[in-house]
Amino acid sequence: MIYATVEYNGEQKICCVDRAGDRAFLIEHFFLSEGLSCPADMLDFIASYKDEYTDELAMFFGTRPDLAVCLDEVRLLAPIPVPRRNIVCLGKNYEDHVKEIKGITGGSANIPKVPIYFTKATHTVIGPDEIILRHDNCTEQLDYEVELAVIIGKNGINILPEDAENYVFGYTIANDVSARDLQKDHSQWFKGKSLKSHCPMGPWILHKSQAPFPVEFDIKCYINGEIRQESNTRNLIFDIPAIISDLSRGYELQPGDIILTGTPAGVGLGAVPPVFLGAGDEICCAIEGIGSLFNVVEE
Ligand code: MG
Repeated sequence: MIYATVEYNGEQKICCVDRAGDRAFLIEHFFLSEGLSCPADMLDFIASYKDEYTDELAMFFGTRPDLAVCLDEVRLLAPIPVPRRNIVCLGKNYEDHVKEIKGITGGSANIPKVPIYFTKATHTVIGPDEIILRHDNCTEQLDYEVELAVIIGKNGINILPEDAENYVFGYTIANDVSARDLQKDHSQWFKGKSLKSHCPMGPWILHKSQAPFPVEFDIKCYINGEIRQESNTRNLIFDIPAIISDLSRGYELQPGDIILTGTPAGVGLGAVPPVFLGAGDEICCAIEGIGSLFNVVEE
């Protein structure tokens, strides 16, 4: 099952998406039919999710094609347009990326022995087709990073690696847009990673029931149609069970939390000489099994 947040007739709704049929089904129809109140938004839906919904929603909409809305009639938003907490990110979590940036951001070529964490502010999130702001009053080194994003499904602390999948809700695509000069100038990465509009996300959430575990998806990023990043999520240094168990040690995960799992080689900073994003550049982040996330840099 694929879940999306959309704008439909001027209102924000959550829906199931049938990619093959180019259709969306507003989930409010399902809850109404059950005599239940519909979750207010994606965060509410995730927090109140019951495993049986996966089959029940598929069955309900399978018998009610009359309720379908053409995907063209809705505007896809970020799956969680306003996260409740900062987005947790992994730095240096693909070996080829560690090597390409050695020395540049003050780091070494050594593979991290423990996960490197930082966060992005919630105002960084934008949806598919939205504009990435250049912020040229404070940065001249805008860069892209395609990443698999994990959406947490339920509360948990001190989670064992073997239980990690139980805490996952699903997966989406994120672009960890980075202002490299700010990242370097301020030592701590928070500001360079947190400029407004610098976390495009979407186009929807692939529920975990539709994904293998561990997740092994091809991951790619194209700039103006040219492929720049290409790997597979099996190449993560710290895989999803390792991340969830390490992060949750003493840190409570909550439903709707978002974890960006790191980016493979091919970022602009790693090129010789570095190549940064400019006005009008088109970025397509693609992850097998999920889809594509397309955004343009502000003119
Ligand atoms: Mg990143």
